[in-house]
Amino acid sequence: MEATEPKTLKDAILYFSKPENCLSYLVARRPEWAKGVVCPICGSATVGFLKNQLRWQCSVRHPKRQFSVKVGTIFEDSPLGLDKWLPCVWLLTNCKNGISSYEIGRDLGVTQKTAWFMLHRIRLAHQGKDGGKLGGSGNGVEIDETFIGQKARNMHASVRARKITGTGGKDKTVVLGMVERGGKVRAMVVGTRKKRELQKHVRENIEVGSAIFSDELKSYDGLQADYQHAVINHAIEYANGNVHTNTMENFWSLLKRGLHGTYVSVEPFHLFRYLDEQAFRYNNRKDMTDADRFDLAVRQIVGKRLTYAELTGNVGETETIN
Ligand SMILES: [Zn+2]
Repeated sequence: MEATEPKTLKDAILYFSKPENCLSYLVARRPEWAKGVVCPICGSATVGFLKNQLRWQCSVRHPKRQFSVKVGTIFEDSPLGLDKWLPCVWLLTNCKNGISSYEIGRDLGVTQKTAWFMLHRIRLAHQGKDGGKLGGSGNGVEIDETFIGQKARNMHASVRARKITGTGGKDKTVVLGMVERGGKVRAMVVGTRKKRELQKHVRENIEVGSAIFSDELKSYDGLQADYQHAVINHAIEYANGNVHTNTMENFWSLLKRGLHGTYVSVEPFHLFRYLDEQAFRYNNRKDMTDADRFDLAVRQIVGKRLTYAELTGNVGETETIN
């Protein structure tokens, strides 16, 4: 008899404490296994289930014949159990302002460093498929940029020295955001606020002909050739009828609440992962329960890998697990 799938965090912790429940939950969400589990190496459907180990073994003779449900997912090669991984996915996916590696470490009984790595892997799952351009529905799209970064005086001395030397004191990162009214948001780290860079992203992400709204930044000049571009002059007013960027501002305030309140400090190198995390929650906030959002995050876990070296940019380091 299978237990009902979890609806709350409390249910999830209890449910995923049973390895067979983790297994059935994940198997059911892997499209390539819809007609039965197949070998990830050779594709054979003739696989035997090793009940005691909760693993499968391919009937064809080749290396790595045995595999677990973690194969080909962000959990692959992690020695941590799914009883820790899946509640961690639940927490990050459903906490409105995010959750810090310190909190996860305490909640799940792992080190802060391990928790940090887990959270970044889960953010990779939050990175959605783009699914077409914004504005295609006929709704207007707001465009805005913001700066993210610590003020130098709040930084530890060694960090400050490292950041300020060699970067010309540029300790702020530019983030560009676009949101379709009543629809989805996209946010990305950009190198500069120069026209060429910002307009490239606008054209890649917004359907030609759409109504777009921005502030009076010069870099947006020229978009009126391809878009119905309305500009709000923030020196004078914040809205003029439907001409405003308040939806985008609302997203920035959610993002900054998470970054300043929960995460304390984020290196620019990792910022895009926090953008993915916040955009995932924002884009899946309406008409979805916590269980639905978790289900979606789990479906996005398949087919993604992230090594510690890729994550830190330091090839040769290995993940520490406690
Ligand atoms: Zn095989």
